[in-house]
Amino acid sequence: MTSLLEELLSCCSASQKIQLPWLIINSLFAIATQILKYLLKFVTHTSSLTFFFLFIVNLLDSRTVMGDLGWIAYPKNGWEEIGEVDENYAPIHTYQVCKVMEQNQNNWLLTSWISNQGASRIFIELKFTLRDCNSLPGGLGTCKETFNMYYFESDDEDGRNIRENQYIKIDTIAADESFTELDLGDRVMKLNTEVRDVGPLTKKGFYLAFQDVGACIALVSVRVYYKKCPSVVRNLARFPDTITGADSSQLLEVSGVCVNHSVTDEAPKMHCSAEGEWLVPIGKCLCKAGYEEKNNTCQVCRPGFFKASPHSPSCSKCPPHSYTLDEASTSCLCEEHYFRRESDPPTMACTTPSPVSSVKKGKITKNSISLSWQEPDRPNGIILEYEIKYFEKDQETSYTIIKSKETMITADGLKPGSAYVFQIRARTAAGYGGFSRRFEFETSPVSVAASSDQSQIPIIVVSVTVGVILLAVVIGFLLSGRRCGYSKAKQDPEEEKMHFHNGHIKLPGVRTYIDPHTYEDPNQAVHEFAKEIEASCITIERVIGAGEFGEVCSGRLKLQGKREFPVAIKTLKVGYTEKQRRDFLGEASIMGQFDHPNIIHLEGVVTKSKPVMIVTEYMENGSLDTFLKKNDGQFTVIQLVGMLRGIASGMKYLSDMGYVHRDLAARNILINSNLVCKVSDFGLSRVLEDDPEAAYTTRGGKIPIRWTAPEAIAFRKFTSASDVWSYGIVMWEVMSYGERPYWEMTNQDVIKAVEEGYRLPSPMDCPAALYQLMLDCWQKDRNSRPKFDEIVSMLDKLIRNPSSLKTLVNASSRVSNLLVEHSPVGSGAYRSVGEWLEAIKMGRYTEIFMENGYSSMDAVAQVTLEDLRRLGVTLVGHQKKIMNSLQEMKVQLVNGMVPL
Ligand code: AMP
Repeated sequence: MTSLLEELLSCCSASQKIQLPWLIINSLFAIATQILKYLLKFVTHTSSLTFFFLFIVNLLDSRTVMGDLGWIAYPKNGWEEIGEVDENYAPIHTYQVCKVMEQNQNNWLLTSWISNQGASRIFIELKFTLRDCNSLPGGLGTCKETFNMYYFESDDEDGRNIRENQYIKIDTIAADESFTELDLGDRVMKLNTEVRDVGPLTKKGFYLAFQDVGACIALVSVRVYYKKCPSVVRNLARFPDTITGADSSQLLEVSGVCVNHSVTDEAPKMHCSAEGEWLVPIGKCLCKAGYEEKNNTCQVCRPGFFKASPHSPSCSKCPPHSYTLDEASTSCLCEEHYFRRESDPPTMACTTPSPVSSVKKGKITKNSISLSWQEPDRPNGIILEYEIKYFEKDQETSYTIIKSKETMITADGLKPGSAYVFQIRARTAAGYGGFSRRFEFETSPVSVAASSDQSQIPIIVVSVTVGVILLAVVIGFLLSGRRCGYSKAKQDPEEEKMHFHNGHIKLPGVRTYIDPHTYEDPNQAVHEFAKEIEASCITIERVIGAGEFGEVCSGRLKLQGKREFPVAIKTLKVGYTEKQRRDFLGEASIMGQFDHPNIIHLEGVVTKSKPVMIVTEYMENGSLDTFLKKNDGQFTVIQLVGMLRGIASGMKYLSDMGYVHRDLAARNILINSNLVCKVSDFGLSRVLEDDPEAAYTTRGGKIPIRWTAPEAIAFRKFTSASDVWSYGIVMWEVMSYGERPYWEMTNQDVIKAVEEGYRLPSPMDCPAALYQLMLDCWQKDRNSRPKFDEIVSMLDKLIRNPSSLKTLVNASSRVSNLLVEHSPVGSGAYRSVGEWLEAIKMGRYTEIFMENGYSSMDAVAQVTLEDLRRLGVTLVGHQKKIMNSLQEMKVQLVNGMVPL
């Protein structure tokens, strides 16, 4: 190339050029070919840059076609393809023409058919060199410096043979830069690039044509392309590949589609410009609840995290005391015994009611102490009431509980000059919070008032006199037979006051059961509590049952001035011993003390004639167990709950009276024609002797094992709480229509299974709420069992809201013929919190635990590390010891149960 150029230029002085035009022209091909080889590298390089712009789609690029381009030139001696290859031996598709010396040139170069691939506007980029006519030897009037570009639309390749005049002209192409022989000498490459666009196209493809009319041109490359806005995700909406509009100024509106796991916030739209750019985004999508935005996608919230709404920015960790085990959670569940109000946002921590912390003393007299306190800072719900527990210092076993809706109370009836300990806890719908710490206040000493002011003596004398008169009025009032109020304290209708002694509630004004044994002469007890009836007033009709002491008959009683009514008559068989007589009448002595619609009512006794009789109200349907068996499946759940409510109410009355039944079972409940259930079968030591279910225990007593709480079996600890256990068994009997508890298991197996933590499974079709109540009654820790008043209110609630009884115990979770594992932490392991803490050598914390409401192993099971710190267990070693022990107990309970 260099030698050829040098030869060309050296030989061509200005005069020679004029004389030697042919030389120049003939040399052009050779020169241009060499130039083009050089240019090619540049062209290829720049075009490869262009290629990276994804919004451009090539329909044709002459540089990249490896084989024959298939273009046609006519006349045949017009446009010529230079048969060169580049350094990689790839063909260079370059066409050139240089008929500057001849008149009337009309040289056409036709491309092959080019598919427009759906584009309606296409772009044609031409790269070419053009010889400056002025640089050619003078007088060449035929030389041109332009060429023309045409197109012809066609759906297929048939259009190739059409006439020239059917082509539509796109433009006349002129060079910005033309070259001279000087440029060739200086080796300056003057490559022109011209781009034209055509549209709207209406057919599937087209041909291009280049018309030369006498210029000296080399067409180095032809590239045909269209533009598109490439698929993109913007604002979580995916916009598809979009071919630009036909018009160069047109903006195409495109709707986006929300990416996976996202939802439309406002319909997403963008606009595709003719240049292939996305413009003006409108609207957006948001990751739906449970998903968060990451790298233009919606990623699932991991377990332990949640996102409540599409508008929340990202997944958040579950708030304190809540959890989720699932992916894509929209909220977290509260840990057991932690709660969140329905109105609380899911971002809110779950809490237990917070303890009352600041308690202030108010007015103190010699008999009363007034207190006030602040509502807890963060009660997790509306505080329904406060429970104030107080007792005389060092007399904790005998305490009083006042319930109040106000944040102040006055405890009265206190001893002068004595220290009292107070603790307060709040109750919300979530239950009770922990008790506050102990607050100790002292009543004023009586001597101070008396000695401080002698002038007060007359006042005191007057007061005492008035007091005595008042006392006399009260005694008179009581003797007149009028019953005292029930449980409401007098001072404040919002307050309820109960007294406890060794676990028994003593309601002020409620009579206490008196054990007939305390009477030296049992006959005296009978006559104190039972009316003597003339035998002539009684008509015996028929025998209805057999009791331990004789037959039970039905009959009628006609008392003077009253209408005759049906009664049941228990008779003492002839030939009885004195002890048998005493025991027989003992039941009447007890029954006679009770007056409650759910306790069998004693009409009186016949002791002055024989046979000795006990006359009670008549219960048409007899004993409950037989009645239910006879009427299996005949009652609605509400009717059954009504029966249970009656029994619970009778038992509440008995426990309020301080009477422990010891033999509560469906066979000892009587039911009348209105389906009213009444507790019966009261007795003294003999109570268990005549129960065929009672069995001798290792300690000698006779106990109805299947109905009796473990502590009563093990060490004869009979309390109202053990009656609650029995009540749970009665519930089970009622809901299973008189099924025998524990079926045919032996008593020994029952004791063992219960001790190991197994409990009766739910009866068929039993509402979940009732079975839960049964399980509560069967808590190993008797302090954790509900009290009868709680049972009554719970049943009342269920009756008031029958839909709450619709949820039945899941049939698959009922284990028929097997006992179910019952798993309060510590069951079977420790009897009390104290025992447990002692066992792990942490006994020093017993008091703190008790004071803060962790008085049962079930409550302890909920303790968290945070709670321990709050309780003041600050030593890490101690925290670990306690937490590890709790964990161990939980694992044992989950894994260690052996199915029967
Ligand atoms: P008891 O000796 O109390 O267990 O009574 C024995 C049976 O007599 C009971 O199982 C009842 O079937 C029946 N019975 C006892 N008292 C009454 C009563 N007040 N009304 C109806 N039947 C009764």
